[in-house]
Amino acid sequence: MNTHHTIEELLTRSHDDWRKAAAQLTYETRLFIDGVFTDAESGETFASVSPRDQAVLAQVSAAGPDDVDRAVRSARAAFDDGRWRDLDPRERKRVLLRWADLILAHAEELALLDTLEMGKPITESVRIDVVKAAETLAWYAEAIDKTYDEIAPTPQHALALITREPLGVIGAVVPWNYALLIASWKLGPALATGNSVVLKPAEQTSLGALLLARLATEAGLPDGVFNVVPGRGEVAGQALGRHPDVDKIAFTGSAEVARLFQVYAGESNGKQVAVEAGGKSPQLVLADADLAAAASAVAWGIFYNAGQTCNAGSRLVVHASVKDRLLAEIVKVTEATFKIGDPLDPQTVMGPVVDTAQLDKILGYLTLGQQEGATVALGGGRATTAGSGNFLQPTILDGVANDSRVAQEEIFGPVLSVITFDGDVDEGLRIANATDFGLVASVWTRDITVAHKAARALRAGTVWINTFDASDVITPFGGFKATGAGRDKSLHALDAYTALKTTWIDLG
Ligand code: NAD
Repeated sequence: MNTHHTIEELLTRSHDDWRKAAAQLTYETRLFIDGVFTDAESGETFASVSPRDQAVLAQVSAAGPDDVDRAVRSARAAFDDGRWRDLDPRERKRVLLRWADLILAHAEELALLDTLEMGKPITESVRIDVVKAAETLAWYAEAIDKTYDEIAPTPQHALALITREPLGVIGAVVPWNYALLIASWKLGPALATGNSVVLKPAEQTSLGALLLARLATEAGLPDGVFNVVPGRGEVAGQALGRHPDVDKIAFTGSAEVARLFQVYAGESNGKQVAVEAGGKSPQLVLADADLAAAASAVAWGIFYNAGQTCNAGSRLVVHASVKDRLLAEIVKVTEATFKIGDPLDPQTVMGPVVDTAQLDKILGYLTLGQQEGATVALGGGRATTAGSGNFLQPTILDGVANDSRVAQEEIFGPVLSVITFDGDVDEGLRIANATDFGLVASVWTRDITVAHKAARALRAGTVWINTFDASDVITPFGGFKATGAGRDKSLHALDAYTALKTTWIDLG
């Protein structure tokens, strides 16, 4: 596919146009190490299966420890000889901007890969994953020649410089739910500051990462600076996490695997580990809220991307006096909006969930929720009319106790747990905070004082007031408690990929 299409043109396409484009798609399936596509040394591969229809899209090379070691050595050599980090920041900026442009020029293929591999509706793959990933890289490119270091307030006889230096080799380990976008949150600041990166994509979304690598080379990123090692988490992910020559792991994924990376680091070279792990985020709706606005945000907050969003608003904590009205409104919005179907159809708003393991896990939670005493207010099972893919109905579990498992564990599917309270704001806040996670939270109220106090009281990396999921590269993203350590996005991410150096000069 060589013809480039504009984003506007892609967003006007028909289902048929996308099906035709998908049929013509070709896949790069090999590892990308030191600027070259290469098979795994063992020759091992794994299947990339589409959740649309269970078709095998491709056999992808599965990196083993030797391949990961080659990738890290190549990244280290590139770092040590300065071929990237010693460039004028403006030159790094030019390369990263070209890369962002190439991503937009290849939006058709990148979006198709995302949609075919993990089932995201094509419009969202274009609009969010591809466009926002390009925007993120461009934003960090633009930042890097405007970032200054510091001089300390020493006495007259000395000059002390505080400079930022890149860390070295970054292992970026990412999930499948926003594969390109989350990769760009790591790649943008890591590469802009002069590091080398070895990217380990999720098994479900390796093909897009490999295309990204080809485009990086086309943009002029020197060989070795960016390597991609698809493979199984326990093998390739673990080898990267335990590698003695990796300086930092930047991880996004589940809380369980986040902790494994902390163990890998402790048992190897004590590398830095930044983790962005899951959530069980509350939408707190108070009695004076604008219910129509809240209903729409609650529905989008949980059913968008079929609930496979780390910051999904999966717990609705609502005051008893408005619960019935709000719930009726949420059901109305959901039924009117969330058209389930083939993710290649631009009319589809909710595609399949990523794989059959995830499908079974979510169905298990639906049974469990009812055993725990919840009632099904909407949905409750598979959406079989949509075809043979992993389609689920948007589901609302009502009458959920906040200490039940469906209120505490991340389901990562289109399942909303409704928890009602009839006390004051403090009771709502206590329930909202009663979770191991702390990624995001929202408060719906017309009282500005209550809103500010609630924002302070909520233990979450982002608090939204009268909105949900408003986000941009300009603000930090990450969480408290079991959700994580470290923040992606914003200029603060530049600090995450650099270390401070003090140079103290005696002036006599
Ligand atoms: P996951 O933790 O299973 O996998 C994430 C990455 O880790 C993948 O690349 C995987 O191959 C690798 N991995 C898996 N097992 C491993 C092991 N034993 N050792 C080393 N690496 C291993 O998560 P997922 O299923 O891909 O993604 C869903 C999870 O990601 C959810 O929990 C979600 O909340 C979280 N998430 C968090 C954020 C955030 O910013 N906080 C964003 C998106 C997703």
